[in-house]
Amino acid sequence: MNGNNQLFERRFAAVPASVANATPVFAAKALNSEVWDAEGNRYVDFAAGIATLNVGHCHPRVIAAVERQLTCFTHTAFQVMPYENYIALAERLNAIAPFSARAQTVLFTTGAEAVENAVKIARTATDRAGIISFTEGFHGRTSLTSTLTGKIEPYKSRRTPGLPNVFHVPFPSEARGVTVEDSLRALDFVFAASIHPSNVAAIILEPVQGEGGVNVAPRALLTALRALCDAHGILLIADEVQTGFARTGRMFAIEHSGVEPDLVTVAKSLAGGFPLSGVIGRADLFAALSPGTLGGTYGGSPIGCAAALAVLDVIEEEGLVARASVIGDRLRGRIEGWGRRNDLLPISPPRGLGAMVGFDILARRGSSETDPAMAKTVCQRALDQKLVVLNCGQRGESIRILAPLTASDAIMDEGMESLEAALSAAL
Ligand code: PMP
Repeated sequence: MNGNNQLFERRFAAVPASVANATPVFAAKALNSEVWDAEGNRYVDFAAGIATLNVGHCHPRVIAAVERQLTCFTHTAFQVMPYENYIALAERLNAIAPFSARAQTVLFTTGAEAVENAVKIARTATDRAGIISFTEGFHGRTSLTSTLTGKIEPYKSRRTPGLPNVFHVPFPSEARGVTVEDSLRALDFVFAASIHPSNVAAIILEPVQGEGGVNVAPRALLTALRALCDAHGILLIADEVQTGFARTGRMFAIEHSGVEPDLVTVAKSLAGGFPLSGVIGRADLFAALSPGTLGGTYGGSPIGCAAALAVLDVIEEEGLVARASVIGDRLRGRIEGWGRRNDLLPISPPRGLGAMVGFDILARRGSSETDPAMAKTVCQRALDQKLVVLNCGQRGESIRILAPLTASDAIMDEGMESLEAALSAAL
């Protein structure tokens, strides 16, 4: 028997519970914005593998490109014998880099690996150790990236206290009463009390925090950070692992601000479900790193590169940057309507950029106090309605929508009907 329950029994016997599962069902098949479980149930997918499937599940262009690559070769290790599609992808990414300086790109496998390497590049290029990151930020689960992450539970236990030379400042948040000025003042305190700015290699942040609750970095913050970085020779790293590749209505979310970062980390939707990540950076910064400093056995896998080149074609040809804004506007309009209704759970106004949208589940109508347990319940009720949707936020209090940008209006409406029914059922 291979139903969901039987598979879960095997899963808990074979795999530790420390890898959590957001849904109690097993995937068997997926296409564009729909996924079917091991028992044949069909779901609308508003999680998209955590913003990894901006072009949808199994996009025919991506699958065809991967199949073509499979018939040539699957792996040589770029460091052993390079191949053309790695170069072609680097050229494409350099051409769309969200900064005006000449760009170069190095490829890896996971988002955390991209962040680790961006920090390595920044530290080597500046010959400094300090890194500033933000509360509620998420950068991965490795030792360094969980140190950078601005959320204790569940990422930092008592026995994994984190690495040195990382300093957090509060991310601006209307809900938590933190202004841009507060963030910048906190940074001043860090510079006065903990590390001199001349010892700081980089400031890293997500232009829109994903795991932290779909919190948009205000333009004033990004502008002020850029000025600070320029004044002190600090590099600005935009972690676009979740926000990149059209999700927010721009190719990269930082473009909304007009601020140019020095290094950009990319992963997730870069390769439409195949494991591939990268760092796009100012070419001059890489000059400090000697050959062999960067790389990895699977870094820039030819399968991933083939998929990513197809993903970039799909984003362009299907107009997904513009589509993200259209999807986002529709979602925001609908969520605002829910906020005015008494027959649904109380919710905050929507946040986000483009098709990266989130809102909080509130403890009471008219209050700003959130209800993380209820947000989890909403996700479960949504699954009853055959919708896969995730929660996020410092305590898991927010619902986030990350549907494929290739989802039709009909599928988006169907998913939103299900989410509305979940907000009603959980009341
Ligand atoms: N940075 C950001 C902004 C992310 O959202 C994530 C993943 N959620 C990561 C880094 C880590 O990526 P990965 O899980 O591929 O290591």
